[in-house]
Amino acid sequence: MDPNANTPPPAPEEFQRKLGDFLKQQYGDKTVFVSMQPQPDTAQTDEPGEPGEQKPIQFEFNYKPKQIKAHLDRYVIQQDEAKKVLSIAVCDHYNHVKLAEAGKAEGEYQKQNVILIGPTGVGKTYLIKCIAQLIGVPFVKGDATKFSETGYVGGDVEDLIRELVQKADGNVKLAQYGIIYIDEVDKIASAPNLVGRDVSGRGVQSNLLKLMEETEVPLRSQTDLTGQLQAALEFQRHGKIKKQTLNTRHILFIVSGAFDKLDDVVRARLREAQIGFGAAIRGEIPRDELLHRARTEDFIKFGFEPEFIGRLPVRVICKELTEDDLYAILRRSEGSIIHQYERSFRAFGIDVLFTDEGLRAIARQAVAEHTGARALVTVCERVLREFKFQLPSSNIRRFVVTPALVEHPDAELHKIMTDTGYEERVAAGMLVREWIERFNQKHECKLLLETDAAEAIVERAMTTHQPVRDICHELFKDYEFGLKLIKKNSGQTEFTLPRAAVENAEKHLSDLVLASYRGADAGSGDPAADDVR
Ligand code: ADP
Repeated sequence: MDPNANTPPPAPEEFQRKLGDFLKQQYGDKTVFVSMQPQPDTAQTDEPGEPGEQKPIQFEFNYKPKQIKAHLDRYVIQQDEAKKVLSIAVCDHYNHVKLAEAGKAEGEYQKQNVILIGPTGVGKTYLIKCIAQLIGVPFVKGDATKFSETGYVGGDVEDLIRELVQKADGNVKLAQYGIIYIDEVDKIASAPNLVGRDVSGRGVQSNLLKLMEETEVPLRSQTDLTGQLQAALEFQRHGKIKKQTLNTRHILFIVSGAFDKLDDVVRARLREAQIGFGAAIRGEIPRDELLHRARTEDFIKFGFEPEFIGRLPVRVICKELTEDDLYAILRRSEGSIIHQYERSFRAFGIDVLFTDEGLRAIARQAVAEHTGARALVTVCERVLREFKFQLPSSNIRRFVVTPALVEHPDAELHKIMTDTGYEERVAAGMLVREWIERFNQKHECKLLLETDAAEAIVERAMTTHQPVRDICHELFKDYEFGLKLIKKNSGQTEFTLPRAAVENAEKHLSDLVLASYRGADAGSGDPAADDVR
């Protein structure tokens, strides 16, 4: 093993001397490693330099918590409590930064660093990314397990700060207002009974603590050879090295993890307290509630140093996502993965249409993977990979993602590629959807067709060669009046129509109307109502 493997590279001055010696060795004594004469420092001085050199700058932040939450609502489904707590914490943090930068901060201020608790793939990172994007500050994500105590074997926690500068395109001023997100922080808990005795975990905690408190981080890492070489060149050029540092005072730190056994710790404490009071232990408390009741002492028992957890005053719980949530992510989130698929097919001139039932089928498969919304990508990839490969080289210009396609992608792809009437049917299906959408807009209601029902209309259009528009008009001509009546009777405005509604539209509507009268009677609580009819 190389004895120098873990030795950090030399300091820039030393590096330049060694480089000079090396060149002399290689090319003889006559070779001179030309070192330019020291020059006055002409480097840009608008970045913060040595501590104390920073010029105050005006930091712009004018958001209110509700505005931040409204932005998050566009992208992140569920996690309402997390959205609220984060919106408040972020406003507090950046309002304080603004005052501090203007020299108007008064009194003590406890930084609003956040600890986010929740399983994988439920939007923890996504929430923070969306916030950083909205307020225009750089965002860096790191993994606590990648850091080692000394920084030489694994990564150095200070690398996160340097990465912020990279993310800010070298704008050091902006980097100092950035957000650092550290995942898997529960894995650096050092309690022996929970995750094994991990001394280095404690070391990483204290390294992170330094960053969270306030420290000056050199922008050139000791272990970064390129950085050192740059420093050597700078030394050559200017005769001195500008020691650039970044102060971590205004960086917002968010740490997160699944905290698998934290609920056990809380439960044990609650049990002990109950026994102390002689109260009976009643029922199991759900995990979510236990996590909400976690206190600082529980985090310490879990394996965190009191100072470390003390620097994370804002605690947020993110909940597990259900199948309905996954469906909503696909359908409603502005960041939905289906937009990405639509774009990548469109690049080949292919339209893909995701039906609601198709999206539900994707959500159903994804929820079984237990990796939250991450599974949506896995399922979509599995289902659509072959389509992405085959369709661009075929004549197919549109296809529809139905439950059948999600469940049997190969068979459906084969059908699409071999069935000559396929495209015509897809086009007809699209016209049906458009007709229904227009109907809904016009009549302020929500008519939904089950896949079977839409197919029945398409079949009719194919066999009778009648335009879809005419068929729909004929089928639903009485619905406008009927649905108004139902709305008046029962307040119902949403209707899902099965195939039977297409096969016998009149009967289906009259059944709905009758049911609405019954519902209204039941609602009126008038036992005589039935007799009146
Ligand atoms: P984690 O909770 O493990 O940090 P992420 O936030 O990284 O999970 O989620 C992975 C991806 O899944 C996100 O980039 C986003 O596309 C999607 N996602 C996760 N949760 C949600 C959610 N609640 N709403 C919308 N999209 C989500």
